[in-house]
Amino acid sequence: MTAKLSLRGVRKRFDDHEVCKGIDLDVAEGEMVCLIGASGSGKSTLLRCMNLLEPIDDGEIWLDGKDISEPGLDPQPVRQRIGIVFQSYNLFPHMTAAENVMLAPRRVRGLSRDDLRPRVTQLFTRFGLGDRMEHYPDQLSGGQQQRVAIIRALAMEPQIMLFDEITSALDPELVGEVLDVLRDLRKQGMTMVLATHEMGFARELADKVCFLDAGRILEQGPPEVLFSQPHEPRTKAFLSRVL
Ligand code: ADP
Ligand code: MG
Repeated sequence: MTAKLSLRGVRKRFDDHEVCKGIDLDVAEGEMVCLIGASGSGKSTLLRCMNLLEPIDDGEIWLDGKDISEPGLDPQPVRQRIGIVFQSYNLFPHMTAAENVMLAPRRVRGLSRDDLRPRVTQLFTRFGLGDRMEHYPDQLSGGQQQRVAIIRALAMEPQIMLFDEITSALDPELVGEVLDVLRDLRKQGMTMVLATHEMGFARELADKVCFLDAGRILEQGPPEVLFSQPHEPRTKAFLSRVL
């Protein structure tokens, strides 16, 4: 089986600080992979490398059997195929939720509002925001804003979605509604990579969990193995702090 997304020996450094130290990772079609690890272990950087927001220093990234990390390649088409959602939702405050969602598809894909309206309406409805499309961000809760940010990424019709700690800034009572969106996406077969502190969620839904430690995937496996029988002392220590 060839993976949808493959990383081979990916290295990334900022000045003389190497943050990704030779990452090998395969993500199969429809799989949910969770990255866990302490703050500073390199989860966000790795996600940003995956959709070419950060150029890598060494190694290769393959998407659907093509090397997308070759120097000089235009990253824009790759970023359309691999969506990313961050902890801070960064919606434009002067635009309605629907306008925020339609902005990139209009600009990048050249679609009109009329082209986009049916699909965008369908996305808002699917994620429980059918009556919030004309609201401005400050009229929405954090959980609703984060769902709009996810819809914004989905509106580009990506093949893979990356999520970087998307519930970390939310009040605890709003986390569930955002995790429900991920559950829904997983059920629909979306290929996803998440950096998360939600260990219960990772345990419940991940196909594979990777423990990052100082820029390396120290250990990876199905959640029932990694959480119950971690091999590495550092994985054990991390899990004993967070579980
Ligand atoms: P995590 O998401 O696991 O907390 P990050 O990928 O954000 O880890 O950060 C890993 C390391 O890389 C940290 O030491 C961080 O300070 C450093 N780092 C991240 N982004 C940059 C950047 N743009 N410039 C310099 N150092 C960075
Ligand atoms: Mg991070």
